Amino acid sequence: MSPLFPAPAGQSAKPALHFGDRILSHAQLHSAAGALARRLAGHQRVALWAPPTPHTAVATVAALLAGVPVVPVNPRIGHRELAHIVTDSSPSLVLAAAGDTLPGPLAALPRLDAPLDPEPGASAPPDGPAGAADPEQPALIVYTSGTTGPPKGVVLSLRALASTLDALADAWQWTAEDTVVHALPLFHVHGLVLGVLGPLRRGGTVRHLGKFSTDGVAEALSAGGTMLFGVPTMYHRLAEAVGGDPRLAAALGGARLLVSGSAPLPVTDHERIEAATGRRVIERYGMTETLMNTSVRADAPPATGTVGVPLPGVEVRLVDEAGQPVPGGDGETVGEIQVRGPNLFTAYLGRPDATAEAFDGDWFRTGDMATRDAAGRYRIVGRKSTDLIKSGGYKIGAGEIENVLLAHPSVAEAAVTAAPDPDLGEKIVAWIVPRDAASPPSAEELTDHVAEQLASHKRPRDVRFLSALPRNDMGKVLKRELA
Ligand code: ATP
Ligand code: MG
Repeated sequence: MSPLFPAPAGQSAKPALHFGDRILSHAQLHSAAGALARRLAGHQRVALWAPPTPHTAVATVAALLAGVPVVPVNPRIGHRELAHIVTDSSPSLVLAAAGDTLPGPLAALPRLDAPLDPEPGASAPPDGPAGAADPEQPALIVYTSGTTGPPKGVVLSLRALASTLDALADAWQWTAEDTVVHALPLFHVHGLVLGVLGPLRRGGTVRHLGKFSTDGVAEALSAGGTMLFGVPTMYHRLAEAVGGDPRLAAALGGARLLVSGSAPLPVTDHERIEAATGRRVIERYGMTETLMNTSVRADAPPATGTVGVPLPGVEVRLVDEAGQPVPGGDGETVGEIQVRGPNLFTAYLGRPDATAEAFDGDWFRTGDMATRDAAGRYRIVGRKSTDLIKSGGYKIGAGEIENVLLAHPSVAEAAVTAAPDPDLGEKIVAWIVPRDAASPPSAEELTDHVAEQLASHKRPRDVRFLSALPRNDMGKVLKRELA
């Protein structure tokens, strides 16, 4: 297999990492990471304290060059979850940056700080073991977002990383000329694999904002950013701001590609961004376990509300409850998504039982429900475990009702869940964050609004008001906490 990042040749002075004021060229990154890689030799697995800094990127590249699997850790992680990850992954060392204060379980480990400056006198690193590496070698161990249960450690090989990044390059016409702008955390696939390793594999640039702000996005895109990666909570904030901010509208309108993923992007946010900028956000669908599965392609006709078509090399099918493939293609039949391809993970760390359960032969069961239209595009209905409501003999997707609720002028946030009901089996419950807490809409006004737009069996039976929805650090709604 070719190395994950080709050694920087003619482009060595070109920026690779641009974090805040700090810029590292491809040559500087390679040299700093190469020096650190030499010190990692012999380690079996290392943890990485992963704030959104260039040190995190350098340390990740170093571990990849050294062929040592690395476990990125959320720096805002709670004590219990950290203890779980450290016990579960048993790293022999922690990578950090000088000045970082590490919490208990990590502070107890030997530590190496990632340099940003090349070591004085250090010669250019050799091609590194990654150059000749076994493609099946574990490269990253990423913990899932913990949306539906305790996070699981997902072992990702060099082969999985390379194949997903190359498939995205094809779908998004992603080249060395692109600068990816984002403010994503670096301990999940979205920010780290797509947002850092992606630009590096292409020989392009990542510009990380440190912290998300609509002004930061406007500035970075105006200054040459070509692609924006974000989660729906970020696009929601852009959608709220863009109508009254001509500079932001021009910056978003001038970007080559606006990409959303990690959770569904509400239709109202799609519409507001398009109305103000003339540009559509495209969605891609993936998971920690599968990396990327589908995307709206850069060269495809508009497809708002869909997550596009399977990426090159990835096979996707829909199955019914008995696990039998359903034909699909009608845009209506709902099935569970199963995928297979070179993008798949190797195993859940230390969980052969959970790994075996997650597969049907060589097909991975995603737990996500979707439809497929005649053009082969998938539309995510939601998760089998929390977003599919079985009420009065119907199967109802929470997302469709959430989209309608969000289009109501008095609603800021909405989530729909199921609650047990003696008559219906399950009833639909709407959780609403009103735009103005002082004058929330009435429950009846909201249920009537849903009944006007959707079939009557989709009317929520119960409406509860909250000041905020519980969300994790990717902005995903934690429905198990609502229930
Ligand atoms: P856990 O597995 O720990 O419960 P998680 O599933 O949220 O957490 P991730 O692997 O980060 O952890 O997220 C993958 C999930 O995110 C997918 O299974 C899917 O439900 C959702 N998702 C990702 N992209 C999209 C998208 N574009 N539209 C809708 N849902 C998406
Ligand atoms: Mg999951």
